Amino acid sequence: MTEKDKKVLENVFLANRPVACKICNGKLFYIGSGKYKCASCETEVYDDFGKVKEFLELNGPSPALLIAEKTGVSLDIIDLFLRKGRLEIIENSKYYITCEKCGCAIRYGRFCPHCARELLGGIQALFHEDTGECPKSSPKLKEGKMHFLHKK
Ligand SMILES: [Zn+2]
Ligand SMILES: [Zn+2]
Repeated sequence: MTEKDKKVLENVFLANRPVACKICNGKLFYIGSGKYKCASCETEVYDDFGKVKEFLELNGPSPALLIAEKTGVSLDIIDLFLRKGRLEIIENSKYYITCEKCGCAIRYGRFCPHCARELLGGIQALFHEDTGECPKSSPKLKEGKMHFLHKK
């Protein structure tokens, strides 16, 4: 993803933000974490970031592809959040996204370093934009590895 792509995606995200309440057309106020509240009927509305965050909170770690499918937010936008650190998937977080191939926890990207090496080949895979990083000490990571071994 180039800087230019990021700028374009950021503009798409900004353009997609809700501006008025769908129920009463009231004014919306930003209340944080991608959530907005209607000033007159108090309905809560989410922008793309809020939708993804809400989905992860309800469903736990999920492949980026599934998040995109369920929230209707495009993969590119989800990628943008992860790359910008907006999803706050940090070490020891309860929520991670998962490698699309083996299902182990990753903090960003689409594949864990192991699968990226298999899929994309060689050391350059580690620098590929789809390659994520595994959390260092997460129980989810161990689960993911066990799952992976089991499948083999
Ligand atoms: Zn309203
Ligand atoms: Zn993997």
